[in-house]
Amino acid sequence: MKQQQNAFWVGTYHGRHDGTPVTVTATRDDTRPEPYAWTCTCGAFQDFPTEHGLFPTAWRHTHPTRFDQLRQWAARRFRTRHAR
Ligand SMILES: [Zn+2]
Repeated sequence: MKQQQNAFWVGTYHGRHDGTPVTVTATRDDTRPEPYAWTCTCGAFQDFPTEHGLFPTAWRHTHPTRFDQLRQWAARRFRTRHAR
């Protein structure tokens, strides 16, 4: 993925989604309306006005709790059922 020129690296998180290794990269870019953001190799993206919320959500995204996993499983099941 191409990094924007003004973006500063602030952190990298390694984790898994259902056994697939993923990497979340957190950056700060003062030219953006919401300077703090992270992107995941799975395509997920979130931005924040301050660094508050950045690290917990990035960590949570790479290390889903049992409840998150259950929710993801339920969401997948729901999508699959409707795709048929
Ligand atoms: Zn992800």
